[in-house]
Amino acid sequence: MGKYVYMFEEGSGDKDRFGGKGAGLCEMTRIGIPVPPGFVIITDGCALYESSGKKIPDAIKTEVIACMGKLEKKLGRKFGDPSKPLLVSVRSGAKFSMPGMMDTILNLGLNDTCVEGLAKETGNPRFAYDSYRRLLQMYGDVVMGLKPETQEEIDPFEKVMEEFKKERGYKHDLDLNAEDLKELTQRFKGLIKSKLGKEFPQDPMEQLMGAIGAVFQSWWNKRAYEYRRLQGIPHTLGTAVNVQAMVFGNMGEDSGTGVAFTRDPATGKNVFYGEYLMNAQGEDVVAGIRTPMPISKLAEEFPEIYEQLLDVRKKLERHFKDMQDIEFTIQNKKLWILQTRSGKRTGLAAIQIAVDMVNEGILKKDEALLRIEPSQLNQLLRPIFDPEEKRRAEKEGRLIAKGLNAGPGAASGRVYFTPDSAEEAAKRGEKVILARIETSPEDIRGMALAEGILTARGGMTSHAALVARQMGKVCVVGCEGVEIDYQQKKLTASGKTLREGEMISLDGTLGEVYEGEIRTRDSEVISVLIKKDMSPEKAESYKLFKTVIDWANEFRRLGVRANADKPDQASAAIAFGAEGIGLCRTEHMFFEGDRINAMREMIMADTPEKRRRALDKLLPMQREDFEGLFTVMNGRPVTIRTLDPPLHEFLPHIDNRQAIEEMSRILGVSVSQVEEKIRELHEANPMLGFRGCRLGISYPEITEMQARAIFEAACNIQKKGIKVDLEIMIPLVSELREFRGQKEIVDRVATEVFREKGITVPYRVGTMIEVPRAALTADEIAAEAEFFSFGTNDLTQMTLAVSRDDAERFLPKYVQKEIFPEDPFISIDETGVGKLMKIGIELGRKTRKNLKVGICGEHGGDPKSVIFCHNIGLDYVSCSPYRVPIAIVAAAHAVLLQKKGKGKRTERDK
Ligand code: ADP
Ligand code: MG
Ligand code: MG
Repeated sequence: MGKYVYMFEEGSGDKDRFGGKGAGLCEMTRIGIPVPPGFVIITDGCALYESSGKKIPDAIKTEVIACMGKLEKKLGRKFGDPSKPLLVSVRSGAKFSMPGMMDTILNLGLNDTCVEGLAKETGNPRFAYDSYRRLLQMYGDVVMGLKPETQEEIDPFEKVMEEFKKERGYKHDLDLNAEDLKELTQRFKGLIKSKLGKEFPQDPMEQLMGAIGAVFQSWWNKRAYEYRRLQGIPHTLGTAVNVQAMVFGNMGEDSGTGVAFTRDPATGKNVFYGEYLMNAQGEDVVAGIRTPMPISKLAEEFPEIYEQLLDVRKKLERHFKDMQDIEFTIQNKKLWILQTRSGKRTGLAAIQIAVDMVNEGILKKDEALLRIEPSQLNQLLRPIFDPEEKRRAEKEGRLIAKGLNAGPGAASGRVYFTPDSAEEAAKRGEKVILARIETSPEDIRGMALAEGILTARGGMTSHAALVARQMGKVCVVGCEGVEIDYQQKKLTASGKTLREGEMISLDGTLGEVYEGEIRTRDSEVISVLIKKDMSPEKAESYKLFKTVIDWANEFRRLGVRANADKPDQASAAIAFGAEGIGLCRTEHMFFEGDRINAMREMIMADTPEKRRRALDKLLPMQREDFEGLFTVMNGRPVTIRTLDPPLHEFLPHIDNRQAIEEMSRILGVSVSQVEEKIRELHEANPMLGFRGCRLGISYPEITEMQARAIFEAACNIQKKGIKVDLEIMIPLVSELREFRGQKEIVDRVATEVFREKGITVPYRVGTMIEVPRAALTADEIAAEAEFFSFGTNDLTQMTLAVSRDDAERFLPKYVQKEIFPEDPFISIDETGVGKLMKIGIELGRKTRKNLKVGICGEHGGDPKSVIFCHNIGLDYVSCSPYRVPIAIVAAAHAVLLQKKGKGKRTERDK
């Protein structure tokens, strides 16, 4: 029979066995942090409890009793002793914190006699009875199951307390004196008896076993079960139980309780960040009953305690090599640490902390890089308020409130006070700021849709702040002086009133709230990299950005390119670190200005001659575009795709009379001719219709013109001394012969142009792999195709038989019901589409050993998909310019995770 119970000093940081909380307590004990003594019942106990018919097995009972004995010895107190009672807390602690798990029970071990003893011992009967009534309340609810009967009803204990206060004419809990609290404990016990027909157990050991059982039981709660199912956390993991000697923050004015982050979780700056309340217990700080004090106040009032805290802060960071989120309690000026875990942070903070910790020698570069979620880099690219406009707003007295800067960034939008109204407004296309007194899990939907979140109450550790940080939202919390009236749908602050739907602006970096709109401007990173209107030395966030990208470039193997059609997009992509263009969609060039007319003329043409004439008009425009692109790319590879979309996309919609008339006028053809063409090109299923290489096969002159434009441009630019690295890509190929015909055209035109220009430019002709048949016959196609690029948008549509444009009706339900683990258009369906990719690569490289393979679908910028692409041996990913930094970091993660022996990074590895 194994061992199930470990004193903190015997345990370890193994979260699988000791749970998150327990592992933290054991580690802290081991490195000499002041932790109240206690023990952990390991997670294996949870399954044993379940298989013992939901009873605490004797093996565990015996060990618990033995450990209680050790605790008694350590502290010189006895559990259930009438004069000097030992009190403990019972705390749940799974590997991952989980909603639905049992709440902590404090002050366990008190009963009618012990409470008297504690009152005498401390000379503080108010404290003793306050502790007892808290125990009755928590135990009655959590262990004995006395809950409100309906959702609308308040907690039955709270109800009794409210009635009692009313009888006495009290306003606050603090008005209750020792006698009152004693009376209240009687009423609480009466409540339990009358509602449940059972007495509150007076035997401390019975209390303890009841609480331990309740923790184990809560692992199997419906809510916890459901949560694990959604998060893919195995049910076999189980929860640990922590039993710990109580320390009291409610013992008077030299006692208190608080929470702290070892660095600022919003900005990541290396400053100690926290909040506390004197004469308070447990969750009082986060519960928002009284407004907590900032930790800097503690430095003034109790400098010795503050010094101790600073020491703990340093020790913890060095040990865990990460920013920590801690709970502490002060009992009669003595500091105790009750919990530590790595702290949730904004993207900006994550990056700042990672960079700082490398500079401080706490982390190595590769470790630091893994601490940064690739998508967090996006926070550095987000707009900020235009400083001029902001100054003006301030002068005009529009700064109406200040709060805590819980989520950095700038957001301007219309204010709404309920998640539902916010959601409706967002659906109407409005930019929304959600303002709440405080938020709860019910608000999450509204928060997700909002540009920014404002709460009147709550601190940096409030629900709103935590969720906003995770979602990367602009967020200001705890705004003193802001009154929100849900009934009247209005917000008042500094004597001004904002009604639902009016404009409001939040500066989440500084914690400011402005009336009206404030224009935003580019972030520092954009200003330096793209606009080049700020010097790199001045831009703090640019320096962070650059550091991270430099690190990632050191580690990654996968190339990163961008999907760009125009020179400005291409130069943005290069600024962000792209090494080439993986997809230039030539058709995008046809929509600009009056180019569409030449394109339409080409479509209307009924003979190859007429078509050629129209194409001749397009040729110089395309050539010019490509010259621009090649110039910007300056020798980097550029992959150009020949015409891909169905032709009807270039014509007006059949219902758009006005556009049709205009087209007929400009082209000098009749309205009915236009209408006829539109009808002729109409397809029941355009996704599988006349598009891709099918266009160039039917109208070879289109491919000819495009190839000519490309090669002429390439020659012209190369003549100027700028190198061109050219790849021409044929779309929607499913059969080698389709590709062969198109390649022949390209090669023939190349020879012609090179002869005319008297210069040659190296080029390759390859294909997109986006039809399942192409992946399956990749060995044949690779015989002539010189490179592959997976078009995973179409490949996903065709592999899953899901049209992306029609999926809205059912795809969200598929994800909700977990038929698909996630939206296959966001993250590659690794099992299906991914399998085709693997087949395509393997077969392709069988024929052509060094076949270059990339991806140019939307997935190229999705971190999870990037890692997959690395693992299956792609050479590069290509994504939209703004996602290039994300892809670069994800590509480095892929290497580092592979080194760590993990192919995949999951939510839970964080
Ligand atoms: P949660 O997982 O919800 O944070 P905890 O187990 O951390 O629950 O406990 C809830 C509150 O009770 C915290 O503020 C914690 O610091 C406090 N607490 C837990 N155990 C003790 C103890 N032994 N002495 C004093 N306070 C405690
Ligand atoms: Mg806690
Ligand atoms: Mg495609």
